[in-house]
Amino acid sequence: MEKKKNQLSRREALKLFGTGIIGVAMATTGISSISAREVEPKEPMVARRKQKGTSNMAPLLGFGMMRFPTLSDKSIDEELSLKMIDYAYKHGVNYFDTAFNYHGGTSEIFAGKALKRYPRASFYLATKMPGWMVTSLDKAKEIFATQLERCQVDYFDYYLLHSISREADYVRVYEEIGTLDYLIEEKKAGRIRNLGFSFHGSNELFDKMLEKYDWDFVQIQLNYHDWDQIDAKYLYKRLEEKDIPCIVMEPIRGGMLAKLNPDAEAVLKGVHPDKSIASWALRYVASLPGVLTILSGMSAMEHVVDNVHTLSTEFQPLNDEERVALDKALNIFLKTRPIRCTACKYCMPCKFGVDIPANFMHYNKCVNESNIPERDSQSPEEFERRKKIFLEGYYSIPEEARADKCRLCGRCERSCPQRLKIADEMERITKLVQSLQ
Ligand code: SF4
Ligand code: SF4
Repeated sequence: MEKKKNQLSRREALKLFGTGIIGVAMATTGISSISAREVEPKEPMVARRKQKGTSNMAPLLGFGMMRFPTLSDKSIDEELSLKMIDYAYKHGVNYFDTAFNYHGGTSEIFAGKALKRYPRASFYLATKMPGWMVTSLDKAKEIFATQLERCQVDYFDYYLLHSISREADYVRVYEEIGTLDYLIEEKKAGRIRNLGFSFHGSNELFDKMLEKYDWDFVQIQLNYHDWDQIDAKYLYKRLEEKDIPCIVMEPIRGGMLAKLNPDAEAVLKGVHPDKSIASWALRYVASLPGVLTILSGMSAMEHVVDNVHTLSTEFQPLNDEERVALDKALNIFLKTRPIRCTACKYCMPCKFGVDIPANFMHYNKCVNESNIPERDSQSPEEFERRKKIFLEGYYSIPEEARADKCRLCGRCERSCPQRLKIADEMERITKLVQSLQ
């Protein structure tokens, strides 16, 4: 029989996605812009894991769509982002995670534009209900319909209650307004294939959430920093006990674990001189057997290439020697007291114009590069060197967006999934700057 234009043969599908995805790939009718022949035989394919109770073979690496590279007007750099998506897809990364609010609402639209070039059954698409916008059941329905339209699909493979963090908010939106029952109806109608939630709350609330519904999966923040520091291990272990697939967000903590301070990095480079620092974070999470997919919000082509190589079919869990090195590096890193911001921007915009993540990223960069000036503990020369670097970076933030414009109102703190004391941290940065003038 003549092969339809763009149709995948079994051989091509195997070559493109490996044996794991064959069930999905063979269900497709065609592939528009990527030819399996474009993937060299020796190039890595991402590893896959089976979702229990389903035929889904999820890629170990998923593409988080909240941190695309941007142009000077802050819009998504679509040309570069499409190249990144194509590279990822060609190497088996076919789980894409967007949300109503990512990139100011343009991430879903871009996801639709990018993914419609591929056969619908060849990728998994996840998005989320922004509960904080839901004032009525009609509003929830309107949001869901808008998401289908934006993404140019007629169903979502994974649909999440976005960022559950406070019980009162959950009860109001999902129980009193009836949004959960509505989403369950959408699942019965086939417009949602798997229903879950993403979580940023307390352990107590997590336990309550697990009893609310027979969730198909749950998305949690997990990485080697948060395992103990914010007790992510509790959430992971509860999911294991209940046999619920775990999807991981922030494996590199918004980039914080992609670059450590020099002493911590030296420990890791001593074991694997040729491996990126970020690869340790991905391997730590991938070593947990209950993890189905690890979402990485990749913002440059080199992130995609490095992550695909790290989580390829050649992936090996961390061994004992590597775990000892990682513990040692983390302990060194924690002594630098970085601000635990993941640059998610949920706190933005600040009513008074402060660019919260920009200030925190600058501070953390100086922490990582040993450039925090401390008059009492450094030689005068070293203090002056650090002072110059710190102030240059601080003054590169637009004046109206600097930490000293913070009015300490604390309004932003309610939206921070990391529960950071943002006002206190802004005051700390402001005092440091004042002490240098
Ligand atoms: S505490 Fe500061 S950064 Fe946060 S909203 Fe108020 S002024 Fe803005
Ligand atoms: S301060 Fe909190 S909400 Fe704001 S960008 Fe950082 S982690 Fe996200």
